[in-house]
Amino acid sequence: MKLRLSQPLGILISSLMLGAIACSAPNNGESSTPSESPTPKAGGVLNLYSSRHYDSDEELYQKFTEATGIEINLIEGKEEELIERIKSEGANSPADLLMTVDVGNLWRAQEAGILQTIESDVLTEKIPANLRDDENQWFALTKRARVIIYNPDKVKESDLSTYEALAEPQWKGRICIRSSSNVYNQSLVAAKIAELGEADTKAWLTGFVANFARPPEGNDTAQIQAVAAGACDVAIANTYYVGRLIRSEEPADQEVASKVRVFFPNQTEGGTHINISGAGVTANAPNPENAIAFLEFLVTPEAQAVFADGNNEYPVVEAVAANEVVQTLGEFKASELKVEEYGELNPKAVQIMDQAGWK
Ligand code: FE
Repeated sequence: MKLRLSQPLGILISSLMLGAIACSAPNNGESSTPSESPTPKAGGVLNLYSSRHYDSDEELYQKFTEATGIEINLIEGKEEELIERIKSEGANSPADLLMTVDVGNLWRAQEAGILQTIESDVLTEKIPANLRDDENQWFALTKRARVIIYNPDKVKESDLSTYEALAEPQWKGRICIRSSSNVYNQSLVAAKIAELGEADTKAWLTGFVANFARPPEGNDTAQIQAVAAGACDVAIANTYYVGRLIRSEEPADQEVASKVRVFFPNQTEGGTHINISGAGVTANAPNPENAIAFLEFLVTPEAQAVFADGNNEYPVVEAVAANEVVQTLGEFKASELKVEEYGELNPKAVQIMDQAGWK
């Protein structure tokens, strides 16, 4: 069941209840619980607020319900809207779990006080320590790499090395990237502050911004399209946007994908910048056990493969492989920075991006 965020709260709650009743009926008498599945209260509901919206996620919700009898009521919206909504619902919020992309958003939710600390040996064992919150308020479920996309007709692979090198004069007028208001870019700059310090990051940004081919416009896909169209020679984008273009059934998308290449920067300098999508149990969750059970389900090998595949991301559990298309992008060394730092350094990153003139 899907509920739109625009619905008034009263209607939402009654829809949730109706949905739970309506959805649970067909399952009566066929509740098979595999032995390795989580053991929450039998049945019940999980109210999931998610800014992800992929068909594969739906498939996972169904599998979880089959395994546990717990019905998932999905409320979709943009991350800021969901965070604001949970805040304004306060103690009466029906939300059990907030699922979103980019650690910057999870960090904002944590700062807003809408998440709670949970205990789960499964999650702390399976999810690398740099990809979850120290207080266990949120956990990464997939990861994505922010890479250099280039036009092989204009750029040799050997011309590329690091994010930092894109500040050199040879890149003048050749770089496309989306705006500084985008949290992916803010997290990239925050990571550089963590690695290089504020002064060096500022110096880097000044040169980098001076090399932009055009004022920032559009999303990551638009930057990849701009490289394919010759509007710029290199761009910065998340890997899954390339995966999407390659797997698209639209010939125009496949054409774009065929004209660009992926380069994983900083392989000998700390690794390529990565970010996550993840989730945290909400502070006033009516069904916290069910939320934890769902998180633990999402780190099983089967769920990880489906979950990451839905958006062409990398699984967060190390033993699970990315989908075949994503694998063709190549192996790479990922930065091992604690992603939590991106949140903490976000205000500073926003400030110096502004000072460097990044619109
Ligand atoms: Fe995205």
